[in-house]
Amino acid sequence: MNILQDKSLLTLLNRINDGLYIVDRNRTILFWNHQAELITGYEAAEVLHSHCYDNILMHVDQEGRLLCHGGCPLHASISDGQERSAVVYLHHKEGHRVPVAVTVIPLYDKKGRIEGAAEFFTDKSQRQHLEEEISFLKSQVLYDTLTALPNRRFLDTAISNLLNETRHYQMTFGLVFFDIDDFKHINDTYSHLFGDKVLKILSATLNKNIRSSDIAGRWGGEEFLILLKYVNADSLMEKAEKLRMLVSRSRYKTSEGEYVKVTISGGATLARRDDDSTTLLKRADTLLYQSKSSGKNKVTLG
Ligand code: GH3
Ligand code: MG
Ligand code: MG
Repeated sequence: MNILQDKSLLTLLNRINDGLYIVDRNRTILFWNHQAELITGYEAAEVLHSHCYDNILMHVDQEGRLLCHGGCPLHASISDGQERSAVVYLHHKEGHRVPVAVTVIPLYDKKGRIEGAAEFFTDKSQRQHLEEEISFLKSQVLYDTLTALPNRRFLDTAISNLLNETRHYQMTFGLVFFDIDDFKHINDTYSHLFGDKVLKILSATLNKNIRSSDIAGRWGGEEFLILLKYVNADSLMEKAEKLRMLVSRSRYKTSEGEYVKVTISGGATLARRDDDSTTLLKRADTLLYQSKSSGKNKVTLG
């Protein structure tokens, strides 16, 4: 078949999010993409060169009628050249039935004769939607909606896990508590909406300038926590200073086109074996306060 000669096209079709298989006029399966494997449980090697009615998919319709020997959308499209869509139930390798929305497209050879058909199908099961819903809700629970950073709940768990590791292994981690300087003034002068924009830009700067093993989260309001693994006092201070500098050098433009100066102050400390999250956060908060009271836009290590 024409379409099967084009290797790069097949590579692309293999990667799409719909299940897809291609048959010739006799409904012999000649292509079976990755998503088809996921939805049906059948690997390409198991189905290629068999017919879709060889006890494989055995589509049934809403009334339970077996479509392979009458009413098969593939067969119909190969016969009349029409595209068609339907909701059918395919037979998963494990035995259960999976509801799928199918679209069948007839395929033509160079002379314009129908040489087969392609069937696209997507999983319509409620279960799949439920899983999407759950992962969406999870993200709502653990991430801040404004900045998309991990939220306080996420950070709490991360700190407990890191403290556990500190107690059991010879490792420590660093924590930096950042707070935006004079943020109330920024809100009051340029609007709360602009304040929100500042929070977003600043969050992106923090998040994009840490290593993949580090976590930058929003602790609340205009307060941020950075958790850094594999640091000592010097490298912790260096990394905290870099973030402070990058925040002060980012651009925050109002709707009137004015650039506003935004800075943060920080308190940085290494976790100790006898710390719990209260003592650790308290120490960082005290260090942050020292940065504030000695002029802001600085990090204090302790
Ligand atoms: P300091 O330099 O001492 O930290 O002063 P500050 O003005 O930053 O501190 P203060 O605690 O007085 O004010 C914090 C402000 O942050 C007040 C609050 O309205 C604002 N804020 C907290 N959450 C948000 C938010 O989600 N969006 C906006 N726009 N403002 C927020
Ligand atoms: Mg604050
Ligand atoms: Mg503040």
